[in-house]
Amino acid sequence: MQGTNWEQLEVQVGQNLTLDPTDWSQMRELGHQMIDDVMDYLENIGEQPVWKPIPEEVKSFLSQDIPQEPQDIEAIYQEFKQHIFPYTKGNIHPRFFAWVQGTGTPLGVLADLLAATMNPNVTIGEHAALYVDQQVVNWCKQMLNYPAEASGILLSGGSMANITALTVARNHQLQKNIRKEGLYQNGAQLTLYCSAETHSCIQKAVEILGLGGDAVRKISVNERYEINVDELVNTIEADLAQGHQPFCIVGSAGTVNTGAIDPMDELLAICQRYQLWFHVDGAYGALAKLDPQYTSALKGIEQADSVAFDLHKWLYVPYEVGCTLIKNAEAHRSAFAITPNYLLQEKRGLAGGLESINNYGFELSRGFKALKIWMSIKEHGLAKYAAMIQQNNLQAAYLGQLVENAPELELLAPVSLSIVCYRYVHPALSGLELNALNREILIQLQEQGIASPSSTLLQGRYAIRVCIVNQRTKKSDLELLIQATLQIGSEQVALLLPRITHFFTAE
Ligand SMILES: *Cc1c(COP(=O)(O)O)cnc(C)c1O
Repeated sequence: MQGTNWEQLEVQVGQNLTLDPTDWSQMRELGHQMIDDVMDYLENIGEQPVWKPIPEEVKSFLSQDIPQEPQDIEAIYQEFKQHIFPYTKGNIHPRFFAWVQGTGTPLGVLADLLAATMNPNVTIGEHAALYVDQQVVNWCKQMLNYPAEASGILLSGGSMANITALTVARNHQLQKNIRKEGLYQNGAQLTLYCSAETHSCIQKAVEILGLGGDAVRKISVNERYEINVDELVNTIEADLAQGHQPFCIVGSAGTVNTGAIDPMDELLAICQRYQLWFHVDGAYGALAKLDPQYTSALKGIEQADSVAFDLHKWLYVPYEVGCTLIKNAEAHRSAFAITPNYLLQEKRGLAGGLESINNYGFELSRGFKALKIWMSIKEHGLAKYAAMIQQNNLQAAYLGQLVENAPELELLAPVSLSIVCYRYVHPALSGLELNALNREILIQLQEQGIASPSSTLLQGRYAIRVCIVNQRTKKSDLELLIQATLQIGSEQVALLLPRITHFFTAE
């Protein structure tokens, strides 16, 4: 460098700044304290309220400007304990039933600590994490009985897994060099078919892939919320007649609303008939294939061109990890492979080893998310996971029965997989009043910290929606949920009824 003062440079470089602690023993002690606190917390999580609202002072604490000065690590940990830790979302709690959210496990927590310690960037290079990553992808194939020659990649979750698979589907089905030439289609639309109950990430993926949201043909569902196959075939025929180019059917292996499973075999046959790509969104339900009750309904996954599923849901590992498997590994590779000069691979040395995973997905930097899966499956063995998933499905069936046994409650959809949609009913209340009543019941269940179901609308009816992908839920948690629903429901009806009676007598 021109004009560099050598002596000054030597002094500056000689400071040897680092972010490692000067006092390792303090860091070690804090680490021990954290592990103790974490294990206490997890061991007794069921005694905590599922959720509590965040006080205003916490929100204002969490909107302070970026700190310029250093702070003691103990003090930072105290801040965490005071302002962050207590206001958890609650999905690790035995009575968390909202959306489709996993619980994690204690060993999963420790695995993430180890993964963060090694902190490998799991993309290129000769290092053990890449082999663990590959081994876990192979285990994923084995869990679903998917062909061993298939390719696969661990991603942040189901949304990334779906868009990754649909990218391959689009490129493969278009049969031109889409990576070079882009998407020009001379007016023909590339169309994708799925049920109206399909997860919104499919729509988003199609939009991002440049096909336009209009390209998603949302086929209606039957009374079990499964895709109407006749309408599907008619829509494909109509599109072909119009000169469009159907390219893909997405089957849901467990919809988010009701846990419905599309008829996999029929979808597969239609794909074969029209030479379409068959993709399964199994983000929620694919692993239910391990439950003997669902093995046959989900067998079609084995023949699918691609399947996306989450391990942070039904494998109970900590966030985030999902997986895409693609039957045609070459199609997968040709959608993503690219080798710039700075990512050359060698036969020996650090840049030797397995092919870069970056050739199978968009993300370059990737964390060591495979380790928590690797350790967890070793800890319990696959049979235990099958039993856990089966238990969640049986818990849903039991909850459905509790609903049917209570005259004040009604099921709003058939129980499928581990989802139960129900509501409180009263003959004096209109549809709109029932919607308001059940919204109030749900919010009170959450605000009182009793349980956290979520909601959905099924044919305009507001449902209290319970989804159990929870390794901590017990039978008594379900009984408590029903008792509390009945209790809050009757209190609310008692508040409403005088008004309604008054309304009737005033006429
Ligand atoms: C959760 C879910 C997704 C999205 O997966 P993320 O892991 O949240 O990105 C997609 N489809 C279905 C059916 C899901 O349940």
